[in-house]
Amino acid sequence: MKAFYTIFLFLSLVYVSSCHENFDPHTLPRPLIVDLYKKLPISEDVALHCTSWRFAGEANNLSPWKTIPQECKDYVDDYINGKAYKSDLERVSREAILYAQTVELKGDGKDIWVFDVDETLLSNLPYYADHGYGLEIFDNVAFDKWVDKGTAEAIESSLKLYEELVKLGFKVFLLTGRSERRRNVTVENLTKSGFHDWEKLILRGAEDQGKPATQFKSEKRSQMVEEGYRIHGNSGDQWSDLSGSAISARSFKLPNPMYYIA
Ligand SMILES: [Mg+2]
Repeated sequence: MKAFYTIFLFLSLVYVSSCHENFDPHTLPRPLIVDLYKKLPISEDVALHCTSWRFAGEANNLSPWKTIPQECKDYVDDYINGKAYKSDLERVSREAILYAQTVELKGDGKDIWVFDVDETLLSNLPYYADHGYGLEIFDNVAFDKWVDKGTAEAIESSLKLYEELVKLGFKVFLLTGRSERRRNVTVENLTKSGFHDWEKLILRGAEDQGKPATQFKSEKRSQMVEEGYRIHGNSGDQWSDLSGSAISARSFKLPNPMYYIA
């Protein structure tokens, strides 16, 4: 028995030393998150710091913020324009579809899904690319000019979810912080981007101006519930789309590291 252990120990030592000869530092476990950003013109420490900041934002752990951290501009640019943003969006869409397929609809036209519009169905990336991906303080006049062009493109993974929901028999409600004055351009832009057959498009009326988004959207959802609608799902890129009162049975938070709306 002793001889067996001696041979075993010897063979183990031979194996370890042969591994050492072929030592390749790239085979060692390393933080993948840093690898993802190693081509960025920022240090690993900054990349890590910005990743933690983004994660805290998505988890709604940050205090209200007006601009992204100065040092995270390149990081956010890379996140948005690289593979990560698209991948994160697709994950949210996939999970929402899986959930939607499990919902038993009553077939009375009262089973609904609520969608936000900006950065949920339509992407305003060209606007934010021109404004530092959230580095500049939000300028509602400049943003409205962009909205009026009506050229925002569909977020493809959201369009897929949208079409699946309509096919499953959900009624779709669009609930946006855009002003009622932008109804026509919003309808045109949505339609041109492939969104059809929504039940209702709710925008901010004169009486809603100045209300925090959480309050405005909660009030509108409460009305839906009062009218007998069952809100099974809600998709939005802001927590203010999803939280408050009359919240949905399931909420799906799309990523958005560029701006925060209370
Ligand atoms: Mg939005």
